Amino acid sequence: MANIQRRKTVTVKIGPVRVGWEVPVVVQSMTNTDTADIPGTIEQVAALALAGSEIVRVTVNNEDAAAAVPHIVEGLDKRGIRVPIVGDFHYNGHILLKKYPTTARALAKYRINPGNVSIGRKDDDNFRTMVECAVENDKPVRIGVNWGSLDQALLTRMMDENNHRPDPLPARDVMMEAMIVSALESAKAAEHYGLGHDKIILSAKVSGVRDLIDVYTALAARCDYPLHLGLTEAGMGPKGLIASTAGLAPLLLNGIGDTIRVSLTPRPGGDRTEEVQAAQQILQSLQIRSFMPQVTSCPGCGRTTSTYFQELAEQIQTYLRTSMPEWRKKYPGVEELKLAVMGCVVNGPGESKHANLGISLPGTFEEPKAPVYVDGKLYTTLRGDTIVAEFKQILDNYVQSHYGAQSKELVGTH
Ligand code: SF4
Repeated sequence: MANIQRRKTVTVKIGPVRVGWEVPVVVQSMTNTDTADIPGTIEQVAALALAGSEIVRVTVNNEDAAAAVPHIVEGLDKRGIRVPIVGDFHYNGHILLKKYPTTARALAKYRINPGNVSIGRKDDDNFRTMVECAVENDKPVRIGVNWGSLDQALLTRMMDENNHRPDPLPARDVMMEAMIVSALESAKAAEHYGLGHDKIILSAKVSGVRDLIDVYTALAARCDYPLHLGLTEAGMGPKGLIASTAGLAPLLLNGIGDTIRVSLTPRPGGDRTEEVQAAQQILQSLQIRSFMPQVTSCPGCGRTTSTYFQELAEQIQTYLRTSMPEWRKKYPGVEELKLAVMGCVVNGPGESKHANLGISLPGTFEEPKAPVYVDGKLYTTLRGDTIVAEFKQILDNYVQSHYGAQSKELVGTH
């Protein structure tokens, strides 16, 4: 893994998971089910956890949702899933946490948005009530500032002050500063109300990549709280993936960020676990953490006119993803495995030799054979209609022999 100097922070415990500079960057996600739908939410949390989400957040937006939380946690527990469940509160968290003490106990962390708890107002102590609940139940909180719901009183005050400066700053800079001040002042207030310094995580989410980098770089320099990174609304498909990567990568490479979420907008009926895969892939591409074997596959070109090569690359990728939940338990270290699936003889053998396992498929007009390389050496040459099945078998054998507890020898199939 790449040697990145992480920014020093306190370490915050969220149930069994620790977040901070001493431990690897944590992947988290959020459900999009109605939290009051207990079976549906259990199902989705389980899927997210199985995909590798180490913390899962659920919205707690009304009484039905609050009443459902303990049943969700219990249902997950019965299935052996101990992922910490975080409650996402806006506007009415102070009421729900007070009215549903079992929920306050069942949640592993509370997310508080200072923009909608009226922090600082004399006639409104919603923020204080939530913090006191956290103290009473020994829970950490994330103070999650969001530019879409930034504390308007604070922003107005700072904009006014800026207007009276001899050299007013651009409005965008004032807004970035207001987000930082909102996070830091809220954290200070939380500590004043009794919350431990090591019970606070901060976030300052925006939806622009450059804004994200700027606001987190500045925030990181002004506190030692762990930071939760992510674009507030990344978007759909490639746009969401690329914007998230472009925003998170520079920060993570600078050692900033202790837990991340990729807030993708799913396609209708889409797979919610894609946001977990995306977060993992960002960390793995940056060589910060390993989650699953990596497949190097060439883009294909005019030398691969059939779809056979794309199909094989996709099948291997799917096979790895579906095998990983079991492999992770049985074969420690398997996430470091490197595979190459190449389209033709030009770069195929060379790239395959750099991988633990590589296959170079026949390009158009090439002899219909696929040499397979194991740890840089030609292992066998596959031919005919069973190339995919035979390659998967070689992969299975490699995984068992190199990462399993028993055998250390590669079991051949030829
Ligand atoms: S390895 Fe072959 S098929 Fe793949 S991009 Fe290169 S030349 Fe094209």
